[in-house]
Amino acid sequence: MPRTRAVVLGAGIIGAACARELSLAGFEVVVVDRGGAAAATTSHGEGNILVSDKGPGPELQLAQLSRRLWPEVLAALAERRAGGAEAVEWEPKGGIVVATTAGGAAGLL
Ligand SMILES: Cc1cc2nc3c(=O)[nH]c(=O)nc-3n(C[C@H](O)[C@H](O)[C@H](O)COP(=O)(O)OP(=O)(O)OC[C@H]3O[C@@H](n4cnc5c(N)ncnc54)[C@H](O)[C@@H]3O)c2cc1C
Repeated sequence: MPRTRAVVLGAGIIGAACARELSLAGFEVVVVDRGGAAAATTSHGEGNILVSDKGPGPELQLAQLSRRLWPEVLAALAERRAGGAEAVEWEPKGGIVVATTAGGAAGLL
């Protein structure tokens, strides 16, 4: 049975992530970019997955999830292609968050 085709416009991190998930889900994926892979903002990233600059709430939860998942993505890349993980400029850094109120501290737990 032919696979469903999907076209992703933009080969930055968002387009690449969408293409990866679609591909893993069994779609036949074509990625189109007017300038090539990581031609725009993505190539200027500083390699951080920042958690410490997020306040309590959905954005922090998303950042924490990203921080947990990213090593898995890199491991999968390394398995798929020699040098795949090394080609990703990710610098796992620590961060310190100081709560100045009890409510703020509770939100960090
Ligand atoms: C200096 C700097 C440092 C940063 N550091 C970090 C960091 O450390 N950690 C972090 O998480 N985030 C960082 N960011 C933010 C992060 O880089 C962006 O949020 C992210 O790259 C956005 O990805 P994107 O895929 O949405 O956009 P883009 O990377 O801009 O991708 C969009 C793509 O779509 C293509 N496109 C646009 N229009 C069309 C069209 N009409 N037809 C075909 N193709 C098209 C473009 O060519 C481009 O390749 C940083 C940003 C900057 C500027």
